[in-house]
Amino acid sequence: MPNFRESESSLKHKSEFVSKLESKNVTLTEALKKTEEVSKKNEEEKKKISDSVLRYHDQIAAQTTTIVKLKEDLVKEQQSKSALEEQLSKAGNQTTRLDEEIVQLKAMSNEYVHLQEEHHKLEEKCRGQERALEEIANQLKKEILKSNELEEAANSTSAQAHWERDNEVVSCKKCEKEFSLTRRKHHCRNCGGIFCAMCSDNTMMLPSSAKPVRVCDDCNLLLVERYSVVPNN
Ligand SMILES: [Zn+2]
Ligand SMILES: [Zn+2]
Repeated sequence: MPNFRESESSLKHKSEFVSKLESKNVTLTEALKKTEEVSKKNEEEKKKISDSVLRYHDQIAAQTTTIVKLKEDLVKEQQSKSALEEQLSKAGNQTTRLDEEIVQLKAMSNEYVHLQEEHHKLEEKCRGQERALEEIANQLKKEILKSNELEEAANSTSAQAHWERDNEVVSCKKCEKEFSLTRRKHHCRNCGGIFCAMCSDNTMMLPSSAKPVRVCDDCNLLLVERYSVVPNN
């Protein structure tokens, strides 16, 4: 019966071995399961990372577009800046010109004030001269009045002498022959002198008379000459 014992021992031994293997199998299955879970997690993580990468790509593209736009804006701003600088430079030149003009205007203003003073002085001088002229004119008026008076006096004297008086005359004014009963006195109606009949044997129309009147030979000649010079009169 030793064989039975031996076999029983072997069986026991094998049974223990199987039990050990089963236990090991369980452990391995659990380990495999854990590994699968880890692998699954890694897979999910990988997918997440891949999504992130895609998102970053999109963001980079969007930012590149923004950068291009910003560069264009920068170029535009630089252009407008240089335009403004040009305007500023022009404005500076204009300011310089205006400053020069202001200086010129100030000089002109001073000149104007000076000229105004001169003008006032000249006006004053002019007024003085006008007053002097007025005085001279008044003096002249007086002189003219005096002269007119003198002339009138002289004229009245000659008018009085114009018409000769019969009793003051003894001979003909022209031929100087003495008047007598046969050689009578005749007045010339033009000059007023007293002549003999021979020396005053003419009649003329005078402005002072309506019909022809007696004039002396001299007056006759004078009047004929005057009328022939102005035939329409
Ligand atoms: Zn006479
Ligand atoms: Zn006469």
